[in-house]
Amino acid sequence: MGHGHSELPSIDQVRDRAGDALARCGVTLRSSLQEGSDSVALLTVRTPINGAVVAEIPAASAGDVQAAVAAAAEAFIDWRVTPAPARGEVVRRFGENLREHKNDLAELVTLEAGKIESEARGEVQEMIDVCDFAVGLSRQLYGLTMASERPGHRLMETWHPLGVTAVITAFNFPVAVWAWNTAIALVCGNPVVWKPSEQTPLTALACDSLLKKAFAETRTDPRLHSVLPGGRAVGEALIDDTRTALVSATGSVRMGREVAPRVAARFGKTLLELGGNNGAIVAPTADIDLAVRGIVFAAAGTAGQRCTTLRRLIVHESIADEVTERVAKAYSTLRIGNPFSSGVLVGPLIGGTSYDAMKAALQQAQSSGGELLCGGERHYAEEAPDAYYVSPALVRMPGQEPIVHEETFAPILYVMTYTEFDEAIALHNAVPQGLASAVFTNDVREAETFLSAAGSDCGITNVNIGTSGAEIGGAFGGEKHTGGGRESGSDAWKAYMRRATNTINYSRELPLAQGVEFG
Ligand code: NAD
Repeated sequence: MGHGHSELPSIDQVRDRAGDALARCGVTLRSSLQEGSDSVALLTVRTPINGAVVAEIPAASAGDVQAAVAAAAEAFIDWRVTPAPARGEVVRRFGENLREHKNDLAELVTLEAGKIESEARGEVQEMIDVCDFAVGLSRQLYGLTMASERPGHRLMETWHPLGVTAVITAFNFPVAVWAWNTAIALVCGNPVVWKPSEQTPLTALACDSLLKKAFAETRTDPRLHSVLPGGRAVGEALIDDTRTALVSATGSVRMGREVAPRVAARFGKTLLELGGNNGAIVAPTADIDLAVRGIVFAAAGTAGQRCTTLRRLIVHESIADEVTERVAKAYSTLRIGNPFSSGVLVGPLIGGTSYDAMKAALQQAQSSGGELLCGGERHYAEEAPDAYYVSPALVRMPGQEPIVHEETFAPILYVMTYTEFDEAIALHNAVPQGLASAVFTNDVREAETFLSAAGSDCGITNVNIGTSGAEIGGAFGGEKHTGGGRESGSDAWKAYMRRATNTINYSRELPLAQGVEFG
């Protein structure tokens, strides 16, 4: 395995880097205490790079949650009637601040989430892209005009802001997912209250600071955004607040199962982006070079910690050995280690819980007939006992063992084989999650079948490209246990607005619909 030793940064180096990057984004940790907060709980922030404690920051209290939602609700009164293109101007400014601080934010993403530098910069680029998209959208919040059945009448629909939008995010996309929600929520006319992952609160403070800077530069009400660092209890207080009209929550299926019924019980709206268990089919006509590159990036990139990570490979029996050997060979060349080092492609897992889950899944796979072909070893354990670096694992599975149906948030790729294409689709769709999917084929019938109603049941369905790395222009999200939400591009903005159907009578009569006569 291509990991080199003694290249992890020291604890002091990591703390200095975090402090410097935060300062450049306008955050001093002392100032991160909300004014007037009665918080007593502290949130310990660790970096997965060497397991060191980077900072301790105050967690939001129940009172902070109430105050943030109340402030947002007040700011909504004027923001909802601010012309949408003027709201877009604020997001445009924010996008410029992101451009200016791209490297600072990326550095914090690497420090807190352990992403390699190139992926961390890509994540910030995604924020910039969605700001550009939202600015354009601010002039395109279109409604339809429909033909009325009554003479002298017009039917149309108008879209209005929903109200306070609560955004809850996961550790693995600590900034991009918030930006997808916030850029679009703001142009749609909604204030945002953000509960970031308890593992990545520093990036959240930096984002809030850059957004507040854009607010100041455009004389916009700062109450339109708040960040509430903390864990599950803070999230629960936020989703239970009846003044939050929309809860957009990203995380595990377990979290979605708790959030959805609570918000539904008070008739609030939810937008859920939950776990995936993404599969790719490799057909006999596939371009194997291209497929192997797509597979390795999707399965091992971000150390297997993307919602769209490739977890299941379904390969035609005639090419299964060749594809598996080539993926294993590519895995053996991946450099694992300090995500700040150039040439490193696989950084650390977020923490020990993920490592334990990976070990347990590999154990279960092997005891149910799976064969571990490579990977699973831990690195740097001696020099950094609280950091968890692992080699991506490749496991040949006989078929649909229960572990294959679970999302283990670590780099494990299960390989299965098929004979007929229909069987491959059935294998592919047999899991409860429905996020991202791919087929590698040069057979147009297979490609089109995969994209058809009889094909993949996922929200993201690709041909000759891996499962991860979506662009912001399309609607992002998945079906089944992934939660059904759509964010980012296309018409995903509609989830942040409410629709009113308007009937206008410009005649001197009062005809009733459906020919009803009354008096
Ligand atoms: P997680 O579910 O542990 O936590 C996600 C967020 O939810 C955190 O901010 C957490 O504090 C909060 N939370 C947890 N329980 C809550 C509750 N009962 N009420 C309110 N808030 C609560 O997930 P994680 O470990 O941070 O992230 C990994 C998971 O996220 C994976 O399953 C991954 O697939 C998923 N994910 C999905 C997408 C997507 O777009 N579909 C994107 C990124 C991550």
